[in-house]
Amino acid sequence: MRGKYVSPSTALTAFNCPRCGTLTSQSWHHVYLRKGDSSGVWSPEAAEEHARELESNSKIPEDGVKRLADYLRRVGSGELFIEKSDRFSDWHLANLNLSLCEECRQVAIWLHTKMLWPLSIDAPAPSEDMPISVRKDYLEAGVVLPHSPRAAAALLRLAIQRLCRELGQEGENINDDIAALVKEGTRPSSSESVGHCTSYCKQRRSSWPRCHKKMSRKLR
Ligand SMILES: [Zn+2]
Repeated sequence: MRGKYVSPSTALTAFNCPRCGTLTSQSWHHVYLRKGDSSGVWSPEAAEEHARELESNSKIPEDGVKRLADYLRRVGSGELFIEKSDRFSDWHLANLNLSLCEECRQVAIWLHTKMLWPLSIDAPAPSEDMPISVRKDYLEAGVVLPHSPRAAAALLRLAIQRLCRELGQEGENINDDIAALVKEGTRPSSSESVGHCTSYCKQRRSSWPRCHKKMSRKLR
């Protein structure tokens, strides 16, 4: 399955969601402040305990209890989510914004033009013709690269393997598949998707695995 890829950007209102990957509308939201009584961070245990206390309190209407208990459990789980509140504030946290995906209703956090969450990707944006199944591994490689170049290289290898499968090969042996594609007349060197993976590795030769070196020789 192939589709156009639009990199997330603060200049756009539609791009590939950094949470679910879908190319869809994104709405932008600002952050306002309200001073809390404590740190506001609930451990899972404390959230569960408080939720149970609420559930055992017969003085609170049942629907209100359920809503509050569900909210506490989500907070305790560490999930990033949006909850409607009737409280408001005049204090605005400038330059910290959220993009909200119309498809999955999950948010990404932005500091000015830089995406803070999910972790920003240290890699060139995928080419438009990169199949979605390949794109997922490619983007994940970009996320893990600063922490583990070897893991990033392994993911890129997997991405190329998937790409070979998309191009009608068996996807078991990259070298055999690429050799077969070259023989068939498909020039993987002209495929932007493969080009992206290899140039990405070349920029970081220390993490460039042997299989990619062999492949690159074949692509020349
Ligand atoms: Zn989404």
